[in-house]
Order: sequence, then C-alpha cells, then structure tokens
Amino acid sequence: MGTANYHTHCDLDDGAGRPREYVTRARELGFAAIGFSCHSPLPFPCDWVLSERSFAEYRSEIGRLKGEGSLPEVYLALEVDYLRGVWGPRAPEVASYGLDYCVGSVHFIDIPATGEHVAIDGSAEEFARCLAEGFGGDVRSMVREYYELVREMARHSTPDVIGHIDVIKKNNPGSRYFSEEEDWYRAELRETIETVAASGAILEVNTGGLARGRTDSVYPSPWILPECLRLDIPVQINSDAHRPEKLDFYFAEARALLREAGYRKQAMLIGGAWRAEEL
Ligand SMILES: [Zn+2]
Ligand SMILES: [Zn+2]
Repeated sequence: MGTANYHTHCDLDDGAGRPREYVTRARELGFAAIGFSCHSPLPFPCDWVLSERSFAEYRSEIGRLKGEGSLPEVYLALEVDYLRGVWGPRAPEVASYGLDYCVGSVHFIDIPATGEHVAIDGSAEEFARCLAEGFGGDVRSMVREYYELVREMARHSTPDVIGHIDVIKKNNPGSRYFSEEEDWYRAELRETIETVAASGAILEVNTGGLARGRTDSVYPSPWILPECLRLDIPVQINSDAHRPEKLDFYFAEARALLREAGYRKQAMLIGGAWRAEEL
C-alpha cells in the first residue's frame, strides 16, 4: 500500500511553507512520492497563482529537490486552469514547461457581458456576484456552465489528473443554492464523469475542501464513487495541501471511502510512470 500526494501547493503560490518542508514532511509520513502542483501562471493578473518570476524559482527549487534523489520521489507539476478558448492543460506554453504531469482544474467562470473571469471557489461574495451578474441568479445555469467547462477540458485539453471535479459545491454550504440530491445536479456530474472516463484522465479524490473547513465531504462527493468505478476511472487520493502539515489530511478516511465504493487500486506516479498500486 503506497501513499503519495500529487496535488500540493507551497509559499511560491497561495500556500505556506517552503517546498523542502513538504518533502521533509512527506518523508516523515513514509510517502513514496510527492508532486508539486502550484497554480500555473495565467494570461491575466491573479494574485494566487505563480508569477513569471516565482515560476522560475519554483522550477529551479523543485528541480533541486528532485536532484537530491532520496525518497520520496519528487515531481514537478502544475495545477493548470481551463479557460475556454484561452488556456488549459494542453496549451502549447504548458507543453513547453517540461512538467512531469499536470492537474487540470476549473476555478473560473466567465461573466458573458464583461468577459471577466470570476473564481467560483473563492469567497461567498464572489460566488454570489458571479451568480447574479453572469446568470441572473439562475444557479442551475451556473452549475451547468461549470460542469460544461470541466467536460470541455476533459475532451479538448485533457490533463493527467482532473482536479476537484465538483468544487462548485464549495460555496454551497448547507445546500444554500442547490441540493446534490436533485436529479438535474446528479445528471450533470454523471455526464461529467462519463466524459472523464472517455478521456482516460485520473480522477483525484481531493480532501482539500475538508482540510480548509469549506466542505463537509471530499471532492467528488462519495455517492458518485461507485459509478466512477463502474466506468473504470482511475483514482488517486490528494489533499491539495497548502501547508506541509496537511499533506495526509483525511487520507485514511478517503481510502476507506474508496474501498467502500469497491476500489482496490489508486494511480501513482512511481519511477516516472503511472501505475495502479494497491489502495
Ligand atoms: Zn484548485
Ligand atoms: Zn490546488
């Protein structure tokens, strides 16, 4: 049973702690591998992603840690946003970075009238503004647009790992805007995992919403996991760590959820190749 974490940030983007502190913690935890996936630079100003300058430092720092060659294995990755027609995991710039893999995530929805990119996993106020200004208060349209973006990314800009697939629930505490029990919501997520299955990408089980007290379940919500297994979607457990001490947050519980759903393997990058390892 191997353990690793392929979705981690650090003090060079919006996390805390030097990359080396994460590696040290991963070693203490007996991880086989750690992959750094800071937020990739974006083609517009954004204060929580790597800047051109911090990206250069990031690459050289992770390269240095990789070069030390001791366990855990260290990998250089990015969490790349998908922006319709503008940017994504398969953008030529991203291919030129020489990454070991990439996590693809949707954090932004555009407000059609202004073209503004609004982060839907940020503050409750920002989410409410996107809903009001972009969708006239129609939450179904906004949720549909979110999942449509994830599907587009999976189809046309396929990452190695799909990041926090249902992060749209982050600003829905107490089912404030929608219920995950409703048929229309479940149909959206189901259609999305079918697209992920066809893409061949790995689906992460991400404990980061719980780690930051923003959700009461992992991404994706556990009810969908047996359906992911039926579609033969490879999975892996990540904590989206923004602090070294969160590297294995809720891992035991996430593993139990996956086993309960019937999973016995998780996808791990070991020796430079993705493998199905005992869960
Ligand atoms: Zn993210
Ligand atoms: Zn992340």
